[in-house]
Amino acid sequence: MKIDQITLTHVRVPLVEPFKISSGEIGEKDAILVGVFSEGLVGYGESSPMSGTFYSDETPESAWNCLTDELIPPVLRSAPGSIGEVNSLLDHTKGNAFAKAGVETAFWDLEAQKVRKPLHALLGSDRKQVESGLAVGIYPTIRELLLAIEKYLVEGYKRVKIKIQPGWDMKPLSEVRGEFGAISLMVDANCAYTRKDLEHLKGLDDFDLMMVEQPLAKDDLEGHASLQSILRTPVCLDEGAKDLPTVRRAIELKACKIINIKIQRVGGLQNAKKVHDLCAEHGIPVWGGTMPELGIGGAQTVHLAMLSNFLFPTDVESSRRWFVDDIIDPLLEVQNGLITLPEGIGNSYNVDSRKVQQYKVREESFR
Ligand SMILES: [Mg+2]
Repeated sequence: MKIDQITLTHVRVPLVEPFKISSGEIGEKDAILVGVFSEGLVGYGESSPMSGTFYSDETPESAWNCLTDELIPPVLRSAPGSIGEVNSLLDHTKGNAFAKAGVETAFWDLEAQKVRKPLHALLGSDRKQVESGLAVGIYPTIRELLLAIEKYLVEGYKRVKIKIQPGWDMKPLSEVRGEFGAISLMVDANCAYTRKDLEHLKGLDDFDLMMVEQPLAKDDLEGHASLQSILRTPVCLDEGAKDLPTVRRAIELKACKIINIKIQRVGGLQNAKKVHDLCAEHGIPVWGGTMPELGIGGAQTVHLAMLSNFLFPTDVESSRRWFVDDIIDPLLEVQNGLITLPEGIGNSYNVDSRKVQQYKVREESFR
């Protein structure tokens, strides 16, 4: 296909509240928007690492450099004719999954527009709605945690996820159960525990949780297998589910019963779909996680989560849950715990160029 231009725009949107997990916190959301212009259409992708390195090895700066120096030049030179060819070109660069996701998903949007279908239809689903779950971070006090859940639960979210770490786990869980009763509840440890904690983690079985997400280090598949063998609560891999071979190995080792798929972590929608299909073959349900991305990335996850083996609520929430504003129109909205896609082709949500200008840090275009 003829590519007229690729644009990069680094945007930064303030958060409503600090995003705090076991390894650090931030107050602003950075993202790099990738626009691929072709034959009168524009496909948009989002490369969305957090600033700093507490959440991922990649940063907005590293993603920007990888895009400009390594990913965009060969794509412009080769004019790939299919999503598969785009992925083959990107695969020449090792790692840098967030940077790749920006380009790769822009081509999916473009392709969907060319065939005049919504993205989820191109991926292979005709659903229109997904269930959304509420995620809350770590708070200074349990009281603040309870207030945060109460504040957002009125939007009807289909489950609540709380972040845990050593010293902040069984106590807040028992208070949440005490306050909110039999809500659908899960926990995410973001790798905060070690194999020394296996006996302690057995205590999670007392809380009837939907799952425990990534309790141990991201590369410790054997440790997760040991934990799953003594835990009734399903273990879900998130940070550890970094690519298709790793997920295959995790399934072989029985390291988990659920996989969290993140488009950013696996480097795009084709890889995400492959992980989905592999898990479906092995009877491992999946769900759609976020970093969280701004609206373009969030909406892509909504489209992806329409696929048949996505069996748990997605982490994609209302735009205004985390961000003071968003760069899409309309904003992502959760109603009665559901996100319903607007009618439309491609990503279904429009990029709001006025907002992009408002939150722009820098931009560059390539021909
Ligand atoms: Mg997680």
